[in-house]
Amino acid sequence: MRVYNFAAGPSTLPLPVLEEAQRDLLDYNGTGMSITEMSHRSKPFMAVNEEAQALLRELMGIPEDYSVLFVQGGASQQFAAVPLNLLVKGRADYILTGNFANKAYEEGLKFGDMAVAASSKEDNYTYIPDMKNVKFRDDIDYVHFTYNNTIFGTRFTTLPNTKATLVTDMSSNILSEVVDVKKFGLIYAGAQKNIAPAGLTIVIVKKDLLGKAMSICPTMLNYAIQDKNDSLYNTPPCFSIYMALLVFRWLKALGGVPAIQKINEEKAGILYDFIDNSKLFKSKVNRADRSLMNVPFVTGNEELDAKFVKEATANGLVSLKGHRLVGGMRASIYNAMPIEGVKKLVEFMKKFETENK
Ligand SMILES: *Cc1c(COP(=O)(O)O)cnc(C)c1O
Repeated sequence: MRVYNFAAGPSTLPLPVLEEAQRDLLDYNGTGMSITEMSHRSKPFMAVNEEAQALLRELMGIPEDYSVLFVQGGASQQFAAVPLNLLVKGRADYILTGNFANKAYEEGLKFGDMAVAASSKEDNYTYIPDMKNVKFRDDIDYVHFTYNNTIFGTRFTTLPNTKATLVTDMSSNILSEVVDVKKFGLIYAGAQKNIAPAGLTIVIVKKDLLGKAMSICPTMLNYAIQDKNDSLYNTPPCFSIYMALLVFRWLKALGGVPAIQKINEEKAGILYDFIDNSKLFKSKVNRADRSLMNVPFVTGNEELDAKFVKEATANGLVSLKGHRLVGGMRASIYNAMPIEGVKKLVEFMKKFETENK
């Protein structure tokens, strides 16, 4: 029996995608083997790789002068790859809005003169600093920010006001809402939240930023080398790329990013509306900065939180325990979470509230 899985990542995948992968697992397209068992240079896999790239370009409206790379190492690897490839002047500014933003900054410090332009740490990252008032240094190579904060449940709705190259970590909101790629120099995302099983990392980078990597940049992290080799410098995460392709097809059939954004807004709306009107459950996140993908909430009583998580699990609503840095609960409602899952969750929260007055 399938449960509604609210895990933050790896996370739930669309059921039709899983069913298709299951059908293909013993015999992919009459080859007598699965896609995970064949050479990454074979015709069937090369076709998968190409179509996945092309569909991601189509879904996100990625212009020709951007390169799309399928790499490994997770978003965390990009915390190092970004400075190794983009630092020319040797300086960059970071906006600290949570755990992953901090990690990116700390990794960056190993490679250059990095500064914190703004931070919401003093309020445990419950808001996004007002982008109108944030100033950046002159002569920087880029401004880095985390678009959606998976742990704290916030998201940027206004981009940093700068002429410098914008670099963003979109691990937990890629393909969930319409984004104008042209505004960015580089977008990266681990695939395991909104796209595919773990193993694949997506990098979308403006081509004029390529070819300036530091001499110490490891070959595998060098975007220009990955670009020149169509991301096939070495063995790629074949199964994740195949699953990403199925997810991209699923998303396209649904109407693409504008269609899923509407659904995501509806899903998040149902959950936030309930929380805002509840006497038991609360959201600590600043309203204007609330994430569409990750919704943390609390009862204010740790024992009651634990009871909620336990009883929800028994009711087929799983992985709702909040991150240890925030406590309480967190519902991750990525693209693949059906609206029925969110409605079931709210129904259960209502019932729990009545029983625990
Ligand atoms: C999950 C996550 C990461 C870490 O991703 P890995 O692929 O595990 O390295 C980084 N940034 C954000 C925003 C995330 O949600």
